[in-house]
Amino acid sequence: MPATDAPAAAVRALRPPRPTHDPWLPQGVTVELERGPGGEFTPSATVFLTGAECPFTCVFCDLWRYTIDGPTPAGALPAQLRAALEQLPGLLREAGLDRCDQLKLYNASNFFDRRAAPEEDLEPIAGLAAGFQRVVVECHPRLVDERVRRFADRLPGRLEVAMGLETAHPEALSRLGKQMTLEQFDRAAERLRADGVDLRVFVLVGVPFVPAEEQAKWVAESVRHAVGAGARSVALIPVRGGNGELERLRGLGLFEPPDLALLEECLAEGLRAAEASLAVQVDPWDLEQVAAGCDACRDARVAAIREMNRTGAPPRTVGGDRG
Ligand code: SF4
Repeated sequence: MPATDAPAAAVRALRPPRPTHDPWLPQGVTVELERGPGGEFTPSATVFLTGAECPFTCVFCDLWRYTIDGPTPAGALPAQLRAALEQLPGLLREAGLDRCDQLKLYNASNFFDRRAAPEEDLEPIAGLAAGFQRVVVECHPRLVDERVRRFADRLPGRLEVAMGLETAHPEALSRLGKQMTLEQFDRAAERLRADGVDLRVFVLVGVPFVPAEEQAKWVAESVRHAVGAGARSVALIPVRGGNGELERLRGLGLFEPPDLALLEECLAEGLRAAEASLAVQVDPWDLEQVAAGCDACRDARVAAIREMNRTGAPPRTVGGDRG
């Protein structure tokens, strides 16, 4: 095995200790207006749930920080969601919103993994989410099975599943520890479509094993792949260091943390590749954590990214210099 393709146990061994979390409390709740594929804006809430860690060990992933040792206790997710929904009216008021149509339930793992979301909790979760027109959950493509359809059937609103394509670069994808091929991604997307479930796709910016000068090209290719898979939207995720393995890869010259200039360029290229057939955006909570590259242009770059998120249109020229 090459030195860059570390087995899961080696990736885990480099991590700092897992922070302790109360499995009966959510990690947080945010509200925002989210642009949809038709340019419409949907008042949306995201609940960051606490639960079991994902069984995959992607080299770029830091979501394990928000998980617990062992399986999610039965009853914990509905309790977290109830607590989060109690905060929602106040958050909406603060944001100047008078309603919320979309609920994103992000559990830092896979919603259709029984260890992360116990079977008996799906019914109460569906009940708590009944007031929303759209419910979005995240799941690895290999864990998309008959549970998705069963959960969709319990919801009065529409179900959308967010899956990580990460990158359409076949070789990089095979080295990320995702344990998934493009064909497996496409099969899961096809199953969602057949079950009447919408698809959202996560695409990485700063993919390990891809040189910096090729990142934007592969983001565009990944967006085209998502369009072909029938996605409704693409969320660009800047890769964050800090899990040990990324620092090791950086030392080998195989990973460079993305800065705001690269994120801006990738968003612009992603929007061009989408040709307005789906929504492409950077999740707003990711922006604050990305290095500026240069402090003087931080505000301008964040403003440019927010503007592209808002309009869905790339700038006339590619996003500024990379200096
Ligand atoms: S499949 Fe998703 S949650 Fe699991 S390790 Fe990979 S990126 Fe993280």
